[in-house]
Amino acid sequence: MKEDVIEQAEFAKYDGLTGLYSRQYFFAQAEKVLSTHQRKEYIVVCSNIVKFKLVNELFGTSAGDYVLKTLGEVVRRWQRDSHGRDVFGRFHSDHFVGCMPLGRLHMQSFIGYCQAVLEKLDLNINVNFTFGIYKVNDENMTVKEMTDCAIVALQSVTPNGSKPYAVYDNIMQDKIRRDQMLAASMKNSLDSGEFQVFYQPMYDFSTKQITRAEALVRWFHSQLGTVRPNEFIPLFERNGMIVLLDLYIWETVCQHQRQCLDVMRPIVPVSVNVSRVDFYHQDIVERLTILLKKYDLPPWVLELEVTESVYMDDPRQMHVILMQLKELGFHILMDDFGSGYSSLNMLMNLPVDTLKIDMLFIRQMDISQRAGDIIGSIVRMAQWLNLETVMEGVETRTQSEYLKNIGCNTGQGYYFSKPISESDFLHLMDEYTPPASEEIINTDYNMSCYKTIMAYDRKIMGLLDLLNGIGLYELKNSTLILLWANHGYAQIWGRHTLSTSNDGWNPIQPADQIIVQRSLEQAKWKKETVSFTYHSIHYDGHSMLMYARAHYLGMRNNGDVYLITFFDLTDWSCL
Ligand code: C2E
Ligand code: CA
Ligand code: CA
Repeated sequence: MKEDVIEQAEFAKYDGLTGLYSRQYFFAQAEKVLSTHQRKEYIVVCSNIVKFKLVNELFGTSAGDYVLKTLGEVVRRWQRDSHGRDVFGRFHSDHFVGCMPLGRLHMQSFIGYCQAVLEKLDLNINVNFTFGIYKVNDENMTVKEMTDCAIVALQSVTPNGSKPYAVYDNIMQDKIRRDQMLAASMKNSLDSGEFQVFYQPMYDFSTKQITRAEALVRWFHSQLGTVRPNEFIPLFERNGMIVLLDLYIWETVCQHQRQCLDVMRPIVPVSVNVSRVDFYHQDIVERLTILLKKYDLPPWVLELEVTESVYMDDPRQMHVILMQLKELGFHILMDDFGSGYSSLNMLMNLPVDTLKIDMLFIRQMDISQRAGDIIGSIVRMAQWLNLETVMEGVETRTQSEYLKNIGCNTGQGYYFSKPISESDFLHLMDEYTPPASEEIINTDYNMSCYKTIMAYDRKIMGLLDLLNGIGLYELKNSTLILLWANHGYAQIWGRHTLSTSNDGWNPIQPADQIIVQRSLEQAKWKKETVSFTYHSIHYDGHSMLMYARAHYLGMRNNGDVYLITFFDLTDWSCL
């Protein structure tokens, strides 16, 4: 028993793969060395392999492990030669850390040496390193704090940039202080409403209609003024606070949508950003489900933008979570597509609905014909895979025309609108003009017509409200889903038109469900409007006699879509 404990303690000191010190033991050993030497003559170095995950992805994790093990051997040899003055550890994955005397390390020759060793492995891939260095100049700092500084320096290095390493300096120190200040004031800012949601509309290239919008967070800091998302989002992703912020943004968007629906304002689906960190919290699906329930919203009003970085980290986890979200009915957009390691493989595996093409390509369109060609091929590929495409960062008319011509569906960018405050967005939506109403009742049913109805346009709603109860339904594998209903529908059944419980069979007396199903089938095959009567159940439980007319609109996702009008005959039947 005692031996077991001793063995475990020994085990915890070393990293099993490379035999280098583990995190805590590295700190302890480095402190020991520094306590017997001039601290200011030492440096702490952190290293990272550029796109190490690519090695795992392309050659398998055993190849990745082999690379790490080989590097571990190089480093251990280096440590042995130092006569106890160097200390090395591996923290996780490809992150190695060393503490050694100043002047012992000549960066370029060390990098060259590691690269030469790796080249012998015959991986057919260039393995590049980046390093962050901290020169000790504060006697009172712990090794852990020194390592944090080296990590900050490491994070400032641009991968594949001109210099593969950076030395920690005063500017970085200021950045750390500012980061600490931002992190410390985050919760307070959340409570006092300093974070706001701005909305950036997205437009259909052919109809020029707003089809959806993206929610983008803005931080109006009481002391620091406006802080840019590009500054605080990466920070909150590092310290985990993003989970709290994202949840707040998602909830604010749900509130916005609910308020609009309650006062019959037109709405479009709003997409929210889901950070990679959100995926590591198992309850992301539950959190979203709770939000929909709390605000009694159907899932199409809240769309989710995810990035491929999660796929790089853990493809299985991403797949499992996205499948659950799809099951719940969420529309999933793959954000920044093309900016990282975007592969067909990933698109085949993940249940995404829309590709948002990274604005990097459009920025280069003016200078390089290839950038335009790449956008063209992404759009074509998306079409083969039956995915919608959104182009981000559209700034000019020329770009907009080009994208329309190559068949890209939707555009987002300053050419159409900058991200705007909630009140400006409400005004914009008030002026929203939908396509002509004939398009709605059209047997050649398509997504845009579906969306027009779903967009809750006021003028059409007004018209449709004159017509008693109307419901838009999807019948798929005997499941009848109420997609949308007008005000008259709510009046007949005495309930909210849009809610999470949209089982279309629910208000129909079980014995009469077959009548409804047969009538819908008839409307589909005869391609004409079919009338029928059946017994229904009011929200408060009383029985009703209904007269209905069903009109077949077409197919969507292998389901049949119908528009049904209702007339309550209950009182008439008593006469
Ligand atoms: P993103 O998701 O790629 O968002 C698009 C960014 O492009 C936004 O920057 C938007 O303002 C900007 N943009 C839109 N149209 C144009 C254009 O025509 N030209 C140019 N040059 N830029 C345009 P923003 O709002 O500064 O956000 C930056 C990033 O911060 C976002 O990139 C997203 O990754 C992240 N972010 C923003 N809000 C949230 C949030 O609530 N949660 C999370 N997790 N991340 C967020
Ligand atoms: Ca986004
Ligand atoms: Ca984006």
